[in-house]
Amino acid sequence: MMVANRSTIRYSVLWLLTVPPGLVYIFFNYSPVQVNWMHIALFILFGSLTAYYPIVRNGTPMFLVLWVTVPAFLMYGLLIELVVMQITVIAVTLIFPGKQPLIRRFFINSTLFFFLSIIAALVFYLAGGELGSVNLWPVIIATFCYHFVHTVFNDIVLKLFAVYKGIDSKFYSKDILVNYIMILAILPLSLTFYYLLQFIGTGAFLLLGIPYFFITLINRLYNNSERINNQLRQAGDIGHGLSELLTEKDVIDKFVMNVSDMFNAEFTYLFDHQDGWLELVRTYEHEKFIDIDFALLSAGQGIAGLVLERNKPIIYSERKEWEAVSRDYTPDDMQSVLCVPISRNKEIEAVLFLASDKKSSFDGYQLKILDILCSYFTVSVEKARYMQEAVIKNERCALTKLYNYKYLEERLMHEMDRLRNEEINNLSVVLLDIDYFKQVNDTYGHQSGNDILYMLARKLEAELPAGGIVGRYGGEEFVYILPGVSKAEAAEFAENLRVAIAGHDFTITPDLVEGKHPLRITITSSMGVSSAPADTDEAMTLLRNADRALYLGAKQAGRNRVAEYVK
Ligand code: GH3
Ligand code: MG
Ligand code: MG
Repeated sequence: MMVANRSTIRYSVLWLLTVPPGLVYIFFNYSPVQVNWMHIALFILFGSLTAYYPIVRNGTPMFLVLWVTVPAFLMYGLLIELVVMQITVIAVTLIFPGKQPLIRRFFINSTLFFFLSIIAALVFYLAGGELGSVNLWPVIIATFCYHFVHTVFNDIVLKLFAVYKGIDSKFYSKDILVNYIMILAILPLSLTFYYLLQFIGTGAFLLLGIPYFFITLINRLYNNSERINNQLRQAGDIGHGLSELLTEKDVIDKFVMNVSDMFNAEFTYLFDHQDGWLELVRTYEHEKFIDIDFALLSAGQGIAGLVLERNKPIIYSERKEWEAVSRDYTPDDMQSVLCVPISRNKEIEAVLFLASDKKSSFDGYQLKILDILCSYFTVSVEKARYMQEAVIKNERCALTKLYNYKYLEERLMHEMDRLRNEEINNLSVVLLDIDYFKQVNDTYGHQSGNDILYMLARKLEAELPAGGIVGRYGGEEFVYILPGVSKAEAAEFAENLRVAIAGHDFTITPDLVEGKHPLRITITSSMGVSSAPADTDEAMTLLRNADRALYLGAKQAGRNRVAEYVK
């Protein structure tokens, strides 16, 4: 902030030392003898309109205000031209947002155009120009010089400024060429304007103003459709990107980032909708995901709640339009807001809230593009959910939700590879089998048996050491794969687990027993432990060893015990 202020002060001093004294000097020395105040007012109006509705090429507005300021100069001289140009420049500065602070841009632009006016006028005189003359060729030549010098100096100063600021810009880009072609095209227009003013007077404003602003309008329409085309293409790319993602979280994050970027939103919030309540699920501010505490919103509460209630998008241009509506959390610099419902099959699934720190950032035409993006989003989320479910179905056992045999086998191979590559030093497995489980089924019913398997699975997960995985090997048998765990450590872990299981109460509600009331029962388990490289260096042998230890060492020895594999 300090630096910004200092540089603003520098520009304001430069301005104060040049523009006001310069204007006073010119006022006393170059005031026109006779002025038509109506003309001056119209020049200012036309200059400001030209600046306000610039002809846009590739998204950059072109400053064609010379078609107004040059006739003003030819008719009334430097002072009037300066007045028209300065007012126009102030209008542009006020209307168009810039990266630099407003006040600094005013000082820079005002000073720059002040000098441009003077230099161009000087060159005009040097080229033999004469104010008020209607002598065609001398007027054309001098006016051409005026236009040319004005444009060249403007470009040079902008380039120097860019170099000074360290902004990379090419000197002879295509845009500059087009700029000069436009200058040549605008020269006959300003000359025509001047001659019409000379010969028919005020009517010239009408005769030239109507076609000029009509062309501007057409250019605007063209540019809008061009812009929409570009955004549609961009939306298509974003859609493709989203549909390739595999998890719901990735889809949400990418969507939030892409929409923020595309709509220049500094604040993006995504709410999930469930039964009339909105929950904030993702918060993205100034290109960063953050976590904030935000209460649930019901329909009608806050801006997002309103959107949910009405099932219609809402656009606000500035803070005072929504301040009364909003709830709790609103960053201080938030201004314009665009909030839309995201629907799938006529149901509102979510609400997207975009906001900017600038006023009037969002436009109705963006709604259609946003709508397309939201469709891509919901389809991609749905697809990612199916994918995730499919992956889970493939890897997990339906009853216990633990990893299934197929996954355990693959994982064991993978861990054995890691052992071979010396990424880990040990790899142990613990095979667990419930004792007398058949009796449990016979006594309490198959359903209660299933319930116990499910509850035991939760218990096994709770006991899982970091880095390990646990799965259902089949029936009432479970496996722990413990990378980096030695045989002794694995045996110790198994022993603790055995004690924990034996001491655990399982609550079941057997349907075989009359009255169907809950019952607490306990079970015991037997385990076999085997390790690599201690016992083997082959994945399947590791499991077979653990199985042998389990049956020979634990089951046959009386059950409810842990046995290590011995060769
Ligand atoms: P032990 O292991 O101590 O030798 O005796 P056990 O009774 O547990 O051994 P066995 O292997 O003979 O029986 C395993 C029983 O586990 C047979 C089957 O009824 C039961 N079982 C296997 N899978 C399931 C299942 O998914 N649900 C239920 N409820 N029971 C199952
Ligand atoms: Mg058993
Ligand atoms: Mg068994």
